[in-house]
Amino acid sequence: MFSAIVIDKNDEGQTVSVQQLDEAALPEGDVTIDVSHSTLNYKDGLAITGRGPVVRKFPMVPGIDLVGTVSESSNPGFAVGDVVVLNGWGVGEGHWGGLSQKARLKGDWLIKLPAGFTGEQAMAVGTAGYTAALCVDALVNHGVKPDQGEVLVTGATGGVGSVAVALLAKAGFTVVASSGKASEAEYLTKLGATSIIDRADLSAPGKPFQRERWAGVVDSVGSHTLANAIAAIKYRGAVAACGLAQGSDLATTVMPFILRGVALLGVDSVNCPIAPRMAAWERLARDLDKDLLALIGSKTIGLAEAIQAADDLIDGKVRGRIVVDVN
Ligand code: NDP
Repeated sequence: MFSAIVIDKNDEGQTVSVQQLDEAALPEGDVTIDVSHSTLNYKDGLAITGRGPVVRKFPMVPGIDLVGTVSESSNPGFAVGDVVVLNGWGVGEGHWGGLSQKARLKGDWLIKLPAGFTGEQAMAVGTAGYTAALCVDALVNHGVKPDQGEVLVTGATGGVGSVAVALLAKAGFTVVASSGKASEAEYLTKLGATSIIDRADLSAPGKPFQRERWAGVVDSVGSHTLANAIAAIKYRGAVAACGLAQGSDLATTVMPFILRGVALLGVDSVNCPIAPRMAAWERLARDLDKDLLALIGSKTIGLAEAIQAADDLIDGKVRGRIVVDVN
C-alpha cells in the first residue's frame, strides 16, 4: 500500500484527498518508481482545486514533476536503483502523477537525474527551471553568443525567469532583467542580472520595428512584452518564447523577421524529446549554483499539506517554489 493524493469526480463535483492505494491500482507502464519528491506547479494547483480543466480522466493522481528511485523495470534503459526525474508528458493530467509515494510510467518519459542534485533540489528546479534551461539552450543552439550584446529576460522574478537569469549569467551573457517588482532588484542582481528594467517599459503596445538592442530574449510573458522584445532584437538574434503571464496574444509584424532575420523559437516542456531534455538537465546540473537555487527559494511540505497549498498557489499567496516530500 502507498499514499497518494487522489482527485475524483462525482455528481456533486470534485473531491480531493490523500488515500491509501494498492500497488495493483497503478496505471500501465514499464518502470515503477518509489517517488521521493514532487512539486506543486500552477498546473497542479488548477488540477487539485478544480479551478482549471487540467485533469483529463478520473480518478487522477496529480503532480506533473517527480523524482524517485526505480523499484521495478522492464525497460532496458532503466535498472532498479536508478534515480530518475520526470517532467510533463501529460503526467498528472491523463496519467497518474508524482504527488504519490509510487508511480508507474513509460520509461521513454524518464531521464536519469544528473549527478549534483538531491531529489529535493531537483524538484526545487522543477518544470519552471527545466523550461528556463530549454530556453537558454534554444538561444545558444541558434548561435546567440555573449559577445553579441545584452540578452533580455522577461518575467524575471518568476520561476522560469529567475533560473533563466542565473543560467544566462553563468554562461557569460550580459543579462537585463525585466520585472514589475522594483523591490526585487537586489535579488535579480544576486542571480546575475547586470541591469533591471521596469516591465511597464515593455508591456504596452509599441512600434513593431524598434532600435536594435537584444542579442537574445527569454520570454515567459507573451503579449505586448513579447511583441516589443521581437521589435528590438538585433540582426539574426532570437527570442525563446515559453509563456503567457501577460497574455497569449501576439500583435507584431513580419518586419523583424524579414529585415533582421530574427528567429522566434517556441519552447514546450511537456512533449519535448529526450535529447533536449537531457541537455537542459545537464546545463542545470553544471551551471545552476546551488546557493542561487537556495536564494530562489523553496518550501518543502508533505502530501496532505499540498491540498491546502494548492488553493494558496492559485490565489497568488505563494512566493518561490513548493517542493512536496511525499514520504
Ligand atoms: P510565475 O508566476 O512564477 O512567473 C511569471 C512572472 O511573470 C511573474 O513573476 C512576473 O514577473 C511576470 N508577470 C506576471 N504577470 C504579468 C503581467 N500581467 N505582465 C507582465 N509580466 C507579468 O510563472 P512561471 O515562471 O512558472 O511561468 C511563466 C510562464 O511560463 C507562465 O505563463 C507558464 O504558464 C509558462 N510555462 C510554460 C512552459 C512551457 O512548457 N512552455 C513550462 C512552464 C511554464 P515580474 O514581477 O518579475 O515582472
